[in-house]
Amino acid sequence: MTGEATTAVIGVAGMAALIRVLTARGRTVIGPTVRGGAIVLDELTDGDELPYGRGVELEAGHYRVRPRADGAAFAHSAGPQSWKTFLHPQREREWSADRGPDGTWSVTEDDTPPPAYAFLGVRPCDLRAIAVQDRVLGGGPHSDSRYRARRERVFLVAVECTEPGATCFCTSMGTGPAVDGGYDLALTEVIDEAGHRFWARAGSDEGASVLAELPQLPADATLPAVAHEKVAAAADRMGRTMPEVDLRELMRETLDADRWNDVAARCLTCGNCTMACPTCFCTSAEDVTDLTGEHAERWRRWESCFDLEFSHLPSGPVRESGRSRYRQWATHKLGTWFDQFGSSGCVGCGRCIVWCPVGIDITEEAHALNAERAAGEGTA
Ligand code: SF4
Ligand code: SF4
Repeated sequence: MTGEATTAVIGVAGMAALIRVLTARGRTVIGPTVRGGAIVLDELTDGDELPYGRGVELEAGHYRVRPRADGAAFAHSAGPQSWKTFLHPQREREWSADRGPDGTWSVTEDDTPPPAYAFLGVRPCDLRAIAVQDRVLGGGPHSDSRYRARRERVFLVAVECTEPGATCFCTSMGTGPAVDGGYDLALTEVIDEAGHRFWARAGSDEGASVLAELPQLPADATLPAVAHEKVAAAADRMGRTMPEVDLRELMRETLDADRWNDVAARCLTCGNCTMACPTCFCTSAEDVTDLTGEHAERWRRWESCFDLEFSHLPSGPVRESGRSRYRQWATHKLGTWFDQFGSSGCVGCGRCIVWCPVGIDITEEAHALNAERAAGEGTA
């Protein structure tokens, strides 16, 4: 890194300046803001758009924005979207084709340059989710060039969690609530008798140069320790936990468990969990033509393993039952993802719990599977 200062204390004015500085550098700043009764991710042009004084009330199948007396901007956990909305969009055109006067087709790849995003407020679990998608979509010999082009230009401002949600379990998954790299800037929000401050650290040269442009509050030697303490306290207040066992082994050893029937009786196979999940990456291709038949386009859109057609082979769908589809999703996230990509496919953000219309909770299912396995072992 350059010789510029790599840590600083900024205030609410410094946060507004951060958005201005990133915008002046040609970046589209995306961050949390309140829209339609939820804290969503959207373009920010002003510091006032951050959700100061708003928190969230979360439970399985339940989400409400609530006022907070302390005026905090980042005291809310994962909302309905994740950063994949921007890095791996829900729908995009891959190419279009036009028939010329001589009847031959010319194909044009959609190579519109991606925006240079700055993501403001990336939570530690979501930083890990981005790293997971980097491996899946951006790595290997057949990487997704569109994903790579967007990802390579992103400036990441991570925010550590001091206020875990009732459905968070990043501590169980080893993904939070502290950040441990992979960012350009990291912030920890502290509100106490000394005021509303953000302890900022640069993790890249660009991060250091952005930090140098921000109005700073006087240095406070005690702030890092206060910030660490708040994040450590958050680790002990997770709303959910996973069973403390090898989850990959648990999934492998419970494939025939009765619990899969129980969850299948509740699951609507709607696929909401896969849409909300920050690591789910599956897509489908759709070809469309206009009415003249002279113009065709190929679109890529998110697809869900809960869709009956997802596993359709010439003989029909491989996973016909809800049981087989929920089991495929959960065992992939918690088990076979390790075999494929070398990590868990779940980062403990809790979105699938909150946004499941019938409140199915992946941690509750894992605990139930673990209990069923233990009972089986006891009677064997
Ligand atoms: S677990 Fe919930 S969100 Fe996922 S498919 Fe089933 S009903 Fe839908
Ligand atoms: S499986 Fe659920 S808790 Fe895990 S990363 Fe996906 S949405 Fe988050």
